[in-house]
Amino acid sequence: LHAADKATPWDHYSGADSDETNWHLSLLGELSAAMTHLQVWNAYQPKLDLATGRIIGAEALVRWEHPERGPIGPDDFIPLVEAHGRARDLTAHVLGQALDDALRWQELAVAGVAVNVSATLLADHEFIEMVGQRLRASDLPAHLVTIEVTESAAMDKPEQAIAALESWRRLGVNISIDDYGTGQSSLTYLQKLPATELKIDKSFVRNIEADQRNAIMVRSTIGLAHELGMKVVAEGVEDARCLAMLGDMGCDTAQGYFISKPINAEAFAALLRESAKAAA
Ligand code: C2E
Ligand code: MG
Ligand code: MG
Ligand code: MG
Repeated sequence: LHAADKATPWDHYSGADSDETNWHLSLLGELSAAMTHLQVWNAYQPKLDLATGRIIGAEALVRWEHPERGPIGPDDFIPLVEAHGRARDLTAHVLGQALDDALRWQELAVAGVAVNVSATLLADHEFIEMVGQRLRASDLPAHLVTIEVTESAAMDKPEQAIAALESWRRLGVNISIDDYGTGQSSLTYLQKLPATELKIDKSFVRNIEADQRNAIMVRSTIGLAHELGMKVVAEGVEDARCLAMLGDMGCDTAQGYFISKPINAEAFAALLRESAKAAA
């Protein structure tokens, strides 16, 4: 591996004091202040209801606007944050922002908010407890909140995940199985997961107009999810034909650049206002 190759952030933290290591350690050292100063902030990607054509909520996608380095994407700092035991802090920050922002949206229209919860926090009972406290302290009803857990996190230790997700459900939140199709789902466990939504990974949604296999995967996943009493979200919708096809297939909700890229809370509120007005 060349030093110039883009290493994953956690490759080096136990290694020699490379520039990479120093940079990662200094980044971690800056996390708390960056959160306080809202350099770590939530972008929101809208969720479109295919039956009504209305925006029904958004997913929080964390961003780090570094004063010197510029924007850093979640794939570049979340693994690092997790490897150093800071996942709780970061997720609490994201969730706190999400609850505050979503509460403001309710003046415009009923809109849900989804937060990604990483594998390390899925079965963290202290964290679940803390989220419960936050939810009770917020005026936002818990049924408007969704936690997104990846399929691979949910299927890693399935029995433990089922128990953990049941604790999450007791908080009143919805549960979405993210990146569905990329993990190794056991159908035995899938039917036992107390999830309310399956979110089909963008690698399957891409190209369903041309790619027969992807179309088959998406159509059958929609059928399966509905049979199991779950809603279906398709992520990564990049064009009008894809969106139309998902509608024909009976998909419930869609997200993707064709609908909107992740945008800041204010821009999302403006979009929500427009969407509610158009439907009225
Ligand atoms: P994800 O939850 O599966 O989110 C979807 C990713 O796909 C996002 O990347 C989004 O910007 C991108 N995307 C959305 N629509 C399209 C599209 O039409 N085409 C393409 N090519 N991409 C699209 P992003 O924002 O870089 O986030 C990457 C991942 O980082 C997320 O995947 C999620 O797993 C993780 N993540 C983001 N925020 C958080 C967070 O607050 N906590 C945790 N634990 N993970 C987070
Ligand atoms: Mg997600
Ligand atoms: Mg949540
Ligand atoms: Mg996803």
